[in-house]
Amino acid sequence: MPNNISIVVSAPSGTGKTSIITKAIEENDRFVFVVSTTTRPQRNGESEGESYYYVSQDDFKQMIVRGEFLEWAVVHQNYYGTSKKEVDRIKGLGKIPIFDVDVQGAKQLKGKIKNAVFIFIVPPSIDELRTRLVNRGTDSEHQVSIRLNNAVNEMRDYRIYDYIIVNHDLTEAAEDFKAIIRAERCNVKRFAPDMIRL
Ligand code: 5GP
Repeated sequence: MPNNISIVVSAPSGTGKTSIITKAIEENDRFVFVVSTTTRPQRNGESEGESYYYVSQDDFKQMIVRGEFLEWAVVHQNYYGTSKKEVDRIKGLGKIPIFDVDVQGAKQLKGKIKNAVFIFIVPPSIDELRTRLVNRGTDSEHQVSIRLNNAVNEMRDYRIYDYIIVNHDLTEAAEDFKAIIRAERCNVKRFAPDMIRL
């Protein structure tokens, strides 16, 4: 069976992306989250090496110069990147990597990873997203407005993705996520001719 697919997920922040990815990983040990490197401060409830690898701006810039990133971008005034080392670690496990990147990152990954499925998760509306970000309480009013602006800009690029999930309801969105991956694993384009015996 083909198992070499990769999943690339993007979503404006506050859309429920982390909950959907976490649910999928909890239910299926084939999936492994690709831990990104960032200069953004660690939030309550996050942990080093699980949510992100947290580094200083200087360290991040040195990693860029050394060519250590598969992709990187500045998002909400912080640096975020996927290190090649992290991807190699997951490939070595023979698992299905789930990349969580913004639209800039997804565009960079498009030409770089084979057999990737690109999924975009969106909120039911911008008003609903504003409510979720405010209720989450992790960002200042200024940060919320930056995130909302970015959300509108990111959503303009939806056509680079293969699938869109509208997150009205977490359980249903997580079901959609799993269904997409399940169907993609059976997609005829994932099978080399010698895998089908006639
Ligand atoms: P947050 O600060 O809310 O965890 O993430 C902010 C944004 O950065 C999200 O859109 C998330 O997808 C994006 N992001 C997280 N890791 C990476 C990464 O490695 N590369 C890129 N390009 N974006 C990332």
